[in-house]
Amino acid sequence: MYIVIIKEAVPIKNNNTIASAIVITAATTIIAAYCFFFPENAKTTLLIYISTIIFMSVILGLISWLYKKTRTSVNDTDIAKIIETLNTEMIVWTDDFSFVYANKLLRQHLEITDGNYDKKAVLLRAFAIKNSDNASEDEQLKNIIHSSSYQSRIRKQNGVVITIAWSTSNVKHRKKNTLYLSTGFNFTEIRKMKNSLASANDFFNASMELAEIGIIMSKDRKNFRASSETMKMLGLKKNSITVNEFRNLIERNGRIQFDNAVKSDDSSDIASINLQILSADGTYHWYSYRYKSIGGTENTLPLFGGALIDITQNHEKDELIERLAYEDEVTKIPNRNKLLAAGQDIYNYCKNLDYSYWIIVFDVDRFHIINDTSGYENGNRILSNFADILLKFVSRGGLAARISGDNFALVLRDYGDDELPIRTARSVQEEFAKLAVDEFSSISLSCSAGYSKIPQDGNSFRDVMEHAEFALKSGTDTKNSICGYEPSMHDSIIGTSELEKSLALAIDNNELQLYYQPKINLSTGRIMGVEALIRWIKPDGTIVPPSVFVPVAENSHLIGKISEFVLNEGCRQNKMWQKMGYPNIVMSINFASSDFYQNDLKDKVFEALAKSSLEPCWLEVELTESLALHDIDFAVAQMNRLRELGVKLAMDDFGTGYSSLSYLQTLPISLLKLDRSFITDIEHDNIAYEIVSAVIRIAKSKKIETIAEGIENTTQEEILRMAGCDYAQGYLYGKPMPPERLEELFDMY
Ligand code: C2E
Ligand code: MG
Ligand code: MG
Repeated sequence: MYIVIIKEAVPIKNNNTIASAIVITAATTIIAAYCFFFPENAKTTLLIYISTIIFMSVILGLISWLYKKTRTSVNDTDIAKIIETLNTEMIVWTDDFSFVYANKLLRQHLEITDGNYDKKAVLLRAFAIKNSDNASEDEQLKNIIHSSSYQSRIRKQNGVVITIAWSTSNVKHRKKNTLYLSTGFNFTEIRKMKNSLASANDFFNASMELAEIGIIMSKDRKNFRASSETMKMLGLKKNSITVNEFRNLIERNGRIQFDNAVKSDDSSDIASINLQILSADGTYHWYSYRYKSIGGTENTLPLFGGALIDITQNHEKDELIERLAYEDEVTKIPNRNKLLAAGQDIYNYCKNLDYSYWIIVFDVDRFHIINDTSGYENGNRILSNFADILLKFVSRGGLAARISGDNFALVLRDYGDDELPIRTARSVQEEFAKLAVDEFSSISLSCSAGYSKIPQDGNSFRDVMEHAEFALKSGTDTKNSICGYEPSMHDSIIGTSELEKSLALAIDNNELQLYYQPKINLSTGRIMGVEALIRWIKPDGTIVPPSVFVPVAENSHLIGKISEFVLNEGCRQNKMWQKMGYPNIVMSINFASSDFYQNDLKDKVFEALAKSSLEPCWLEVELTESLALHDIDFAVAQMNRLRELGVKLAMDDFGTGYSSLSYLQTLPISLLKLDRSFITDIEHDNIAYEIVSAVIRIAKSKKIETIAEGIENTTQEEILRMAGCDYAQGYLYGKPMPPERLEELFDMY
């Protein structure tokens, strides 16, 4: 507004000056010409001309004075008119208070209703100036003029406080006074918002602090903003840190993972990585970093960042459990579980890249005699020394493990030398014999070996290893034998094909039957479910256990037929019990690997449920870890498909395979079955107890229920109940039994 007024004034002023100059110049020229041509009149003419000029100057000066006077008063009022209806607080005033005009909005705040107000009082109220000892009102007003953002708080009669930030500009300097225009910015709402944001921020910070969650966010993936909890965790002095500085705090091995996270595309999923980060106490802590990339939209900026949670304690626990679970206590080398896990990785690697490895399994000859005669401690020393000998032969990518009492395994890379396993086994035997002379002079030490090739000699690592063990047992000599696996050995001994033929006949003759073993809820003592276990009942009444015929069926097309029978019969029987009025229970069935990896599994399960009218929640599928780990991505997808149906999923025999606790996160299971091997001696075996109770605790934290298999006595039951196990299954409650017998049990439990 100020600019508009000046712009209009300048041309008017200039035009007058130019016009006057032109008129005076023209008049002077005419008079000069007249005097030149009529010199006789020159004197009188000049006199008249000069008098006229003087007279005109006086008149023009008067007009100009009058013009200026009128213009100033018009300008003040003009400004007043212009600001009157504007929707922002404004006041135009002179520093001698002769003119003070507050616009309508400001008058409303000041609660002024009529036009006769005390001008100075209004100005002072607008700027909330009060008499103070430090500065006079005039001085305070001067401060306002010189301050670019002066704030005043206007308190209304109803107590509402309006906060206005003022910006004052000098509109016109005049002799007598100066005219100022003060424009207000009412930020009462913003202030309220700021306050509520501040309290929301405090609330957020307090919550994050209580939850011990640090937040780091970035808009440009170059700089992070750290929450106060992050600053506390990492000992940061500022709340900003560059991504590079943050990266330098991460332990070297985790940096690539972090780089990948920073580079990650926008996605709706929250990803998670575990990083070791240098923390406030100067040591590296383990953090779970859950992050997400969010692409920007029209109204929002893109963001990258996430939450840091200190998991050092859990990590240490996990490491301890992993150690307890995968390290052999006596020899400190990997145990059978570790070998099976690492071996399966090697097996997959060989399959994918066309490499091969050897596995040699060793058995210390007559170890039980040595143990009995030279004492338990000496026995352990021999085992440890044997492990040390094996470690000398471990080459890159291979490993040595103790697989059971006096059985060991050595996994070696194959470089096309078929004699390698025999030569290595011989060298081990020689070293072992030498050890006997050096350390255990009275004992003669020898060992036998069996070997097989990965992946050629089996369908999985476990298969290959079992074949090496099979070869070991097939060795003819009683001492220092070395025997390689041959598929023909197998056939001649167990006559698989014969068994296969009679199993096929048995299926057709309906000789397969389901037995049911009860599962008990440890807190109520009632039956909550049953596991369907298949039996082959021959016409003469002999019962063939699944351990004999299921592996044979798995190697032929017969398993498909068996599983279909189990699925349909299990659903039918459970529905039947429901119809008979027994309490609703969960029916668990077992699937073999080949069934589970069928593409139409979901359809088959759906059909069985539909045919029997059993609700999906009363059916549970038990899967073993090795089965799931065979192809983890497919397994997870398949498990999710089954879950979509509403069917429950349980992890069977937990603890016998790789059993990494991290799989509890990956696999969508709702029940974990602790393997019988942990339970058998839980009363005396502290390590088994520690592992079981830790696994139960961790499963609970992941909302996964637990059941213990193989409970045979009440001491085991009590220990598991105390450890927080939810359910139990075992001979204590009942062996697998035909349906009629189970019905009798329903009445007891
Ligand atoms: P699993 O699924 O782990 O079944 C539990 C096994 O532990 C059963 O052996 C059961 O009789 C046994 N068991 C339960 N409680 C105790 C106990 O307190 N003490 C002792 N010593 N043993 C106990 P079973 O019935 O011989 O089955 C062996 C395995 O055969 C099963 O292990 C499962 O992997 C497989 N199997 C059984 N039925 C089927 C089936 O229908 N389909 C498939 N694919 N596999 C089956
Ligand atoms: Mg089972
Ligand atoms: Mg089991």
